[in-house]
Amino acid sequence: MNVGKVPHEAIERVKKLREELNYHSYRYYILNDPIITDHEYDMMLKELMNLEKKYPELITPDSPTQRVGAKPLDGFKEVRHSVRLYSLDNTYSEEEILEFDRRVKRLLGVESLEYVCELKIDGLSISLRYESGILVLAATRGDGIVGEDVTANVKTIKSIPLKLRNPLDIEIRGEVFLPKSEFKSINDERSEEGLPLFANPRNAAAGTLRQLDPKEVARRNLDAFFYQIVDPYKYRLETQWEVLDFMKEIGLKTEPNAKLVGDAMEIIEYWKRWQQDKHSLNYAVDGAVIKVNSIHQQEELGYTAKSPRWAIAFKFPAEQARTKLLDVTFQV
Ligand code: NAD
Repeated sequence: MNVGKVPHEAIERVKKLREELNYHSYRYYILNDPIITDHEYDMMLKELMNLEKKYPELITPDSPTQRVGAKPLDGFKEVRHSVRLYSLDNTYSEEEILEFDRRVKRLLGVESLEYVCELKIDGLSISLRYESGILVLAATRGDGIVGEDVTANVKTIKSIPLKLRNPLDIEIRGEVFLPKSEFKSINDERSEEGLPLFANPRNAAAGTLRQLDPKEVARRNLDAFFYQIVDPYKYRLETQWEVLDFMKEIGLKTEPNAKLVGDAMEIIEYWKRWQQDKHSLNYAVDGAVIKVNSIHQQEELGYTAKSPRWAIAFKFPAEQARTKLLDVTFQV
């Protein structure tokens, strides 16, 4: 690595950011016990990405910018995913959504484009494989390439069919989550038993799915929504909207508030609406996921090292930051 021309402060800052990010990833993914907000984490990651963009000499293969998720835990069999599970780029700002829209249109050379807006479920990703319609494998994302085999645990989730309505060979992806009501009763129970409480439904879901005893998992009512089919052309599906419909048809649950939109302003409206209305849902959502609707165009756009170019997570402001804002409003 030739870092001769890079200012000393940049080298030091990159080092510090990596240490911090690795520590918080460990707390988040392995201990399921984060101590900073996602927004704070994302801002540090963004600063690191910007520094690496400015000084590419500083990029190393083990930088947190180069990886997705976390390594599998001991105790579960490892599963190599047939197709990699990516992460998503994210933003918290309307301006960056408009920039995303402009960039995608420029790359495709088109003037208008359809997008699917979906709610971003704050759970953990899961990949399922069905053979002749029978559930044969469920794996966590892990580092995107190798995940953990959690089939026995996933089979306890009542809303995940053990058999599809059609005898298909199919691989699908979605999000396992813990309903808010369930989260509350688990924490009430833990508090009575003097056990440490889960920080939020996502941590509780991750902790539950990675229990080594499926009977324990069955006691907690996990749930799931699905949003992706690997190789959709095999089923003659050409858009994300058709993918969502098809999944419902074969018996898989999809989040009911997805919307097909025709321009960036509608994306922003959707995001604003659900920022307000998210409390009415019995599951935690931390933003919207915006996807180019046409699968052909998705393929044309392709992927960066970490995420698809055809999708972006448009996150809601962190709850803590919002509370502070509300406090300020009250003080005025
Ligand atoms: P992500 O949460 O930003 O987004 C990608 C994930 O969104 C997908 O893998 C999928 O599981 C999920 N998702 C939910 N609904 C979806 C939908 N409709 N369509 C597609 N995907 C959907 O990325 P990540 O890699 O899972 O996690 C990184 C995030 O974790 C960061 O943005 C950060 O906020 C958080 N994090 C926080 C800490 C902390 O200490 N607070 C530490 C590490 C990571």
